[in-house]
Amino acid sequence: MADARPYDLVIIGAGPGGYVAGIRAAQLGLKACVVEKDKPGGVCLNWGCIPSKNLIHQANLVLSGKQLAHIGVQVETSMLDYGKVYEKSRQAAGRLLKGVKGLLQKNGVDLIQDTARIAARNKLVLSDGTGIEGKKILIATGSRPLALPGFAFDEERVLSSTGLLSLKTLPKSLAILGAGAIGCEFAYVMNAFGVQVTLVEMADHILPFEDEETVSVLAASFRRKGITVLTGTRAVSLERSDRQVTIALEASGGEKTTLIAEKALCVFGRTPNTDGIGLDSISLKTESGYIPVGDYNETSVPGVFAVGDVVATPLLAHVASREGQVAVEYMAGCNPPRRVDVNAIPSAIYCEPQVASFGLREAQAKASGIPFKKAVFPYRGTGKAVAVEQPDGMVKVLVDADTDEILGAHIVGADATEMIHEMLLAKTAELLPQDIAGMIHAHPTLSESLQECMRAAGGQPIHM
Ligand code: FAD
Repeated sequence: MADARPYDLVIIGAGPGGYVAGIRAAQLGLKACVVEKDKPGGVCLNWGCIPSKNLIHQANLVLSGKQLAHIGVQVETSMLDYGKVYEKSRQAAGRLLKGVKGLLQKNGVDLIQDTARIAARNKLVLSDGTGIEGKKILIATGSRPLALPGFAFDEERVLSSTGLLSLKTLPKSLAILGAGAIGCEFAYVMNAFGVQVTLVEMADHILPFEDEETVSVLAASFRRKGITVLTGTRAVSLERSDRQVTIALEASGGEKTTLIAEKALCVFGRTPNTDGIGLDSISLKTESGYIPVGDYNETSVPGVFAVGDVVATPLLAHVASREGQVAVEYMAGCNPPRRVDVNAIPSAIYCEPQVASFGLREAQAKASGIPFKKAVFPYRGTGKAVAVEQPDGMVKVLVDADTDEILGAHIVGADATEMIHEMLLAKTAELLPQDIAGMIHAHPTLSESLQECMRAAGGQPIHM
């Protein structure tokens, strides 16, 4: 029988922030509804994490096929039907979309397919003017691709990440403007499928928010694969014609060049969806478009919360989901309420070699003035990395020189996005490098490189 109670919580947006918050609310006995104008699962499931990881998986299959030539097996990859690759990526998203709908239903969270706007601090209105009241409101409306003047998306010549994920045929060449996580992942995928890729980044290294030394391993791998990587280079302007895009570039030293490609992918960043959702009606101000929040994601308006990409924390699905849980647990009076520890947020980039990290980068540690020790262990020092022909990689840890506290960890190499969690568990459990170093790790595993790195932090690695 339908639950006739009024809503304790009304949520706008069913991305990983909103739908997870709805389920957590139900678990804690709150009656919740989620209003979603598009597809449940949000950007992550439909136009972000999931389809892009499926493309990476299929790119890896193609690359593995090519490697079979080393043992005399020829695989004909020129027969590749990219339309089928696209279909596979949509199937992955479609399967998970059904899963999210099922989870909401199973937990008794009402899903309303409509556009919502805030009308008052306890009321949303839908597109036909119907009001929905709730004791609390949670804003989880996410973000969209950032369009810079002169680089407007037409999704034909100039693509956003959504346009790239919608391609059913491959261009011959692609200029990728912006070498953050999304730009690097798509550079890897398109190169694997035979597209001539140029990756342009204004900062002095790709993945500007990752540790420079670690990322240099990825940059070298990209160059070996034939990706042209231009760092310290700004895209100044773009002209489009029926056949190509022409991009004016300027290097940090002032040198000007021109880049021509069949299409451009502009991944300069994201912009929060905070306009047109009724923030004015409750006098909620944004800062650079983002909604300011306190420790438990409550905004300056009591009873109104915001999570995920609308908040100026890292724009990641797992951050959105955790913030959603933290906000709801606080609303429900959980004691003590959990908070999001910004030093323990993992970052993961899934191209090969993978990059994963948390906490301070070396440059940040230096700037902070904290006395720290650094230890690095190369993948090639472990038997597994050599046996499975994955020697390109390293594990790096930064520890407080006085207390041995883990300040940051950085991994580049195969399975980095899985391995980072052992380090993160150590950090969150307040373990020290010697605790990981002293734990028996199975041999041969890539995880032995974590153990060796932690030994190196104490000055006594065995295989280096
Ligand atoms: P969204 O997922 O953006 O969801 C917001 C939802 O709100 C949308 O469904 C939208 O339709 C709905 N909405 C908006 N306004 C209204 C309204 N007025 N009424 C009703 N509904 C509304 N993150 C990772 O952690 N790992 C990855 O590997 C990763 N890969 C990515 C790859 C790409 C190509 C992209 C673009 C992003 C990737 N991200 C990744 C980032 C991740 O997708 C976002 O951080 C995450 O989706 C944010 O979740 P959210 O719930 O805040 O918002």
